Order: sequence, then C-alpha cells, then structure tokens
Amino acid sequence: MSASLKLYNTATRQVSEFTPLREGKVGIYLCGATVQAAPHIGHIRSGVNFDILRRWLLASGYDVTFIRNVTDIDDKILQKSELEAMPWWALALKYERAFTSAYAALNVLPPTYEPRATGHITQMIELMEKLVENGSAYAPGNGDVYLEVRKLSRYLSLSNQKLDDLQSIDDSENSFKKDPRDFALWKAAKPGEPSWPTPWGAGRPGWHIECSAMAHTYLGENFDIHGGGLDLIFPHHENEIAQSEAAGYGFANIWMHNAWVTTAGEKMSKSLGNSLQVQELLKRVRGIELRWYLGSAHYRSMLEFSFEALEESAVNFRRIEGFLKRAAEIVGYQPDPIISADFAAAMNDDLAVPQALALISENVRLGNIAITANDHAAIATAASEIRGALGVLGCDPADEAFATASQSDASVLDGLIALALEQRTAARARKDFATSDRIRDQLAALGVIIEDTAAGTRWSVN
Ligand SMILES: [Zn+2]
Repeated sequence: MSASLKLYNTATRQVSEFTPLREGKVGIYLCGATVQAAPHIGHIRSGVNFDILRRWLLASGYDVTFIRNVTDIDDKILQKSELEAMPWWALALKYERAFTSAYAALNVLPPTYEPRATGHITQMIELMEKLVENGSAYAPGNGDVYLEVRKLSRYLSLSNQKLDDLQSIDDSENSFKKDPRDFALWKAAKPGEPSWPTPWGAGRPGWHIECSAMAHTYLGENFDIHGGGLDLIFPHHENEIAQSEAAGYGFANIWMHNAWVTTAGEKMSKSLGNSLQVQELLKRVRGIELRWYLGSAHYRSMLEFSFEALEESAVNFRRIEGFLKRAAEIVGYQPDPIISADFAAAMNDDLAVPQALALISENVRLGNIAITANDHAAIATAASEIRGALGVLGCDPADEAFATASQSDASVLDGLIALALEQRTAARARKDFATSDRIRDQLAALGVIIEDTAAGTRWSVN
C-alpha cells in the first residue's frame, strides 16, 4: 500500500498527501461523456488520465470503486436526434457504444459501475425533494426547480470566484428565478420533448443534478476523488458541490482536473473534430500507440496535438516494444513486470508521468547496453521494470486487451515477411542477386530491416 501518494487538489490549489476516507479503499467519480457525437481524443484523454490514476491506485494495493457516468439526456442529444432523424434514446445508445469501443481500443478499464442519467431519475427526485424541503431549492410553479445560490456560504470556492462578479445567464427562464444566478436542477417539459413526472410537474433533469445523484447512489455521502476536464470546474462542478453540500453531504474530498488536448494552443476546435475522432486516428496508429501518446503529458498539462507528434510518439513506443521483444528472445522468457522504486516515486508525486517516461527510456538504454554485453540478468531487470511501468500506464504490449487484435495482425505480418524472405533465399540460391536485393530494398522501404546472420535471416520492423 502506498502511503506517500501526493495529489493536486483543485479545491485547495495544493499538492497534498492522499489519505483515503476508508482504509484501503478509494471511491472515484469521473464525469463521463454526453453521448451526442463520436468521441474525439479531447474526450478520451480524460478517460486515459483517470485510468492511469486508477491503475496506480490498484498497483499501490487499493480497492478502487470507479464510477464514470453517461449523460444520455441533454439539449444537444435532442438537437442531434432531429438532425440524424432517430429517437433521442437510439442516438444516445449509438454514441454510448462508440465511446465504449473507443475506451476499449485504448485499454481504459471499464468503470466499476457506469450509470446512465435516465436510469437515475428517482434518485434525482429524492435529492431535489430533500433540497426543496430544507429550503435550499424552490419550485416556482412552472415545472422548473432551482437551487438558491445566495443561501450557500461556500458557493464558487472551487473556481475561486465571487458570486457578485458572476455574470447572470441571460435566458428566458430568468423570470422564474429569485436570483438570475440560481441554476436549474430540473427543467419543465417542453412540447415534443421527453419528460418524467415529478411532484413539481413533468420535465427533465438539469445536467448538474445527474452527477450529484449518481455519485451519492454509488459512492455515498462523501467519497475520495471527483474528476473531470478543466472546463467542468465551472459551472458543472461548482453546481454539483452546491447541490450535494446543500443536501448535507460531504461530497468529494479531492477534486482533480485534467487539461485539454489543444491544437494551435486552443482547446481542440470543432473543425478538426472529425479528423481527431478516435476511430479515424486508429487508422493511422494502433490503440496502444494512441494511448501512449494521450497519456504521455502530465494530466495537468495541455497536450498540443499534431500528427507529426503522434507519429513520433508511436515510433518511440515501437522502440520500447522492440526492446521487450528482443529481451524476451535473448533471455528465453517474458520477464515479469516489477514496479521500481524510482517509478513509484514519480507516480506518487502527483502522477508525474513525464518522469516515468524518462525512466522507461533510461531502462531501454541500459537494456540495450546489457544486450551488447550479453548480460541476461540486467536485460531481464530492464525488461521487468519497463513492463511494470507500462502496465500502470495501460500500455504493456503483453496486455491481453491489445493481444486479440494485434496478434492476428502480427501473425499475418509474420507470414507475409516469411514469404518474402523465402523468395529472397530462393533468388540468392540461383545467384539472382538483382531480385534478392530488390526484395530487401522493398522490405526496407516498408520499414522491415533484414539482417543475415549465421543462424539465418532475422528481421525487425524499424
Ligand atoms: Zn458530472
């Protein structure tokens, strides 16, 4: 069990020692996707960053309950359902499945529970009843329910804003609000839109109440870590805190936020969105390579996307994979993963992934020196430490999650290269060196390097 994990808490703006509320157990709530479009890497980065946190807690011996919700009712889903001419619930399920397969392709562990908003209307109504009863919320009679933010002493402390500085949201609902800054827990039904009955009239949930209700259902009144992207701090997370604290819950102990994927220094633009969809990028690089790239920056640092950087990162990853493959060939087995003290220290320091990556590079360098020296013990140690680190980063090539897809690809590749090498050997046997050289050059152009040794021809992918 790791006693020395330190994490940055957005609420205190400090890195401090992590102490779980219940010994040996960690409860995490991560705001999941609003399922209204196919996932791009900006969406999935959050999943990867918090998966690294989860894997590190697991490797440190904690029992982790990980909740990631699905927002399956929302304005955008209703608009999209019209555009795509399908029922809102069919559209939501279509994109929920797209997210599930993107998470799987990137080896993000499935959440312990993955609650959908529409499956938790009862819990939302119970929470709102509590808030209306204790005077924190009010129903003006039109079917809406609002939280009265003036009554909250700590409102906006997460984003460090003052209520009086807050611009009021200029919308038509304002006339029903006591204060323009009050926010909707529940929205009255509009003609043609889906709705659910409540004591205050039919309607549908506001986004914020969903997360408060689902976090409470699965993690209780207080839990360890609440996560999400930076852009969720305000208003979403402030409003989750407001609702939950007004209900008398302690709510989240630590708030963690991942930074964005940026293009030209800005949050990923919609115009690039399609080309940066996970399914599109998986045509260029493998899932393990895309994961490696998305996980490579510190979770609190912006990740500036470029295709060049992605390709370069994939080439670097293949070098690590190549070393592990050679190491296993030389020592005659796949060395078991181990967590080195240096790697643990890096991860315990607010998940310092860049330092962890430097340790992996250093191990590849030492491992290659050990190969030259034919020092099997040192080769195995380097390979073990690399595998231990890659496992926590979700990028161990031996992980079964990657094996199914890549193994069939790999066996086809093996077969094709063996065929080409057979032709080359036959050409050499008949002294047709022009043909044998051409086969070698064509393979080289594809990145396959051939090495003639006393034991036969070896090949590797550059
Ligand atoms: Zn949320």
